[in-house]
Amino acid sequence: MKLTKEEKKQLEKASSYKSIVKRYEYIYDTVCDFLDSKYIGCNYCDFKDDVCKYFRVKDPKHKMGCCYSDARGGLCPNLDKATCKIKSISCKLYACPMLRDEKLYFKVNDIPLLKYNFNLRQKWWIKQSFFKTKEETLMKLYENKYIYEVIDNNLEIFVTENNKKKIFRMLKQIVRYCDKHNYTITINSFLDNKLNRELHIIEKGINIKDKEKRYSYVYDEVCKILDEKVDTNYCEFKNDTCYRDRLKNNGHKNGCCECEGRGKCKFLINGVCTMKSCMACKLFTCAALRKKGINEKATNYLPLKVFFTSKQRDILSYSYWTPKEVVIKRLLDNKFVMPKNYDDEYR
Ligand code: SF4
Ligand code: SF4
Ligand code: SF4
Repeated sequence: MKLTKEEKKQLEKASSYKSIVKRYEYIYDTVCDFLDSKYIGCNYCDFKDDVCKYFRVKDPKHKMGCCYSDARGGLCPNLDKATCKIKSISCKLYACPMLRDEKLYFKVNDIPLLKYNFNLRQKWWIKQSFFKTKEETLMKLYENKYIYEVIDNNLEIFVTENNKKKIFRMLKQIVRYCDKHNYTITINSFLDNKLNRELHIIEKGINIKDKEKRYSYVYDEVCKILDEKVDTNYCEFKNDTCYRDRLKNNGHKNGCCECEGRGKCKFLINGVCTMKSCMACKLFTCAALRKKGINEKATNYLPLKVFFTSKQRDILSYSYWTPKEVVIKRLLDNKFVMPKNYDDEYR
C-alpha cells in the first residue's frame, strides 16, 4: 500500500500518542473526518431534497438514505438536522450496492490509520458497530486490543464488564511479564468503585519494582479497605461484647482479641487495637459471623490474589497479633510455617 504524505503524517501522529486512549480517539476522529470529507464533502450519495441517488432509483419516496429503515423502526433517532450526532464510524463506512458498483467506498484496510493500528477483531467491530456511539465503539476497541502490546516499556490494559473475567484470570501472568521485562503498567478500568480501587492498588503495586516495598504497599492498602469494613462494626460490639458472645451469653468481653489460653492481646488497650497493622486479625471472621454471611478471606481481595501465592496468603491470614514488619519478613522468606499454637514473642 503506497502512502500519501498526509497518511504518513497521520500514522506518525497516531504513534506519537503513548496513551492508547488518546491514540484511539485521534484515529477515530481523524477517520470520521476523512469519511465525512468523502461521503458528504464529495457528495458521494448525491442527496436531492433529502433523497439519495440510490433511493431515487429504487424508491423516490424514501428520504434520508440509509439513516431511514422501516425494518429498524423508521428514522434513526441519532440523526439530528441530517447529521449523525453520535459519530458512528461503521455507518460512515457503509456503502450501498450502488456506491460499491461505482467504487465509491472504503474498506477498513484502505484507510492506513485503521489498517496499521487495529487487529482483526477490532477491525470487525469498526465495520459492525452500526448506530453505536463513539464511546461504545472505542470500548469495543479497547476490549479487543492485544493484551501484551507494549508502548515505551509500558503495558496498557483495559478492563471492562465484558473482559474483566479474562483479565482477572491473567493478572498474575501480567505481573510476572511486567516484572520479567521491567515494564510499567497502566490499567484503565471501566468497572465499579470497589474493583477500580483494587485495580489501582494492583497498578501501583506492579510499578513498585522493589519486592519489599511492593508487599508493604499492598499490605497497607488492603488493611485500609479492611479497616473501613471493621469500622462499620459488623461484629456488633456493645459494651465491649461482640455479636458471638452476646449470642452465646457467655459474659466474654473483647471478642476474639481475648481468648482462652492466650488471654487478652497485649496490643488491646482501652478496647482499641494499638497495633493497627495486623491483617490476619482484620481478616478473621468467626463461625457466628460466617453463619450470618460475613466471611472475610484473603482471596476476596484481588491484590492479595495477584501478588501472593497461596502459601503467602496463609501467612497473611494466620499471622494473628503479629506486627506488619514481621509479616512482611515472613512473606519475603516464604518459608514460615504457622506454629500449632501461637506461643511466640508476640503473644
Ligand atoms: S450509502 Fe447508498 S443508500 Fe446510503 S445514503 Fe448513500 S447512496 Fe443512499
Ligand atoms: S470475629 Fe466473631 S468473635 Fe471476633 S469480635 Fe467479631 S463477632 Fe466477636
Ligand atoms: S493485634 Fe489483633 S488481637 Fe491484638 S488487639 Fe489488635 S486486633 Fe485484637
